[in-house]
Amino acid sequence: MRSYTEYLVFNTTKRQEFSNITDQVEAAVIKSGIKEGICLVNAMHITSSVFINDDESGLHKDFALWVEKLAPYGKDKYQHNLTGEDNGDAHLKRTIMGREVVCAITNGKLDFGPWEQIFYGEFDGQRKKRVLVKIIGE
Ligand code: ZN
Repeated sequence: MRSYTEYLVFNTTKRQEFSNITDQVEAAVIKSGIKEGICLVNAMHITSSVFINDDESGLHKDFALWVEKLAPYGKDKYQHNLTGEDNGDAHLKRTIMGREVVCAITNGKLDFGPWEQIFYGEFDGQRKKRVLVKIIGE
């Protein structure tokens, strides 16, 4: 069994943003040389997400509205913000959207359904954050 590790770095221009990172993960799979295995992609920060869904802009607006409805931004809305932070909403949004995805690698490629794409979801951005890509297999 072989393994390959890569850290992707993101620094979004907006506080909240969704980015399609499928090409970057695919590039890591190619670099790994692994033909059959598993690829883990996880956000390394507790206010950002990695998830799989459709690359459709209306859906992304729906996600943004949905998480804002569930956990609206606001300094005085969360116990967590009593620590002096203002990102209580971002922790909750990250939990809703998920920490990581695990993808199968078959014949050296991400073995996806027809519309599956990997996204980085940022909820407290405008600073450097990392995503871990760990590939195991042979
Ligand atoms: Zn916080």
